[in-house]
Amino acid sequence: MKTRSGFVSNSSSSSFCIFGIEMQYKQVLEILQLGPQKIAGCKHEFNREEANFCPECGKKAWIIEQPGWDDIQKACEPWEFWQLPETDWCYVGTHIDDSTIEGLVALQETTKGLETKFKQIPKVHSGEYYS
Ligand SMILES: [Zn+2]
Repeated sequence: MKTRSGFVSNSSSSSFCIFGIEMQYKQVLEILQLGPQKIAGCKHEFNREEANFCPECGKKAWIIEQPGWDDIQKACEPWEFWQLPETDWCYVGTHIDDSTIEGLVALQETTKGLETKFKQIPKVHSGEYYS
């Protein structure tokens, strides 16, 4: 599992402050309806329903691929997805880097959107983690 690179720093502990929802990894995948994907094992043309391996190159007909960070991030748009290193806990939301009144008003839209999608009222999550 990949973690957003901006989340990690060189120091042994880092703090974070996110406005959003907190969920376990598998719950996020469920809500986003992301599951393992069946993709062609090579580019050759043959009947993949009948042969398990490619007659030309010998690769598997199908490869099962778990969703990666990119897939999850894409499904979370317009919000961002974070996962705490070495835990199951994930966050979907936005960084609070604009603490002007306009920035805070914009969080209302974020709140509505996240609540509709994830059935959880977003709040500020902050803490420290060790990397
Ligand atoms: Zn092949």
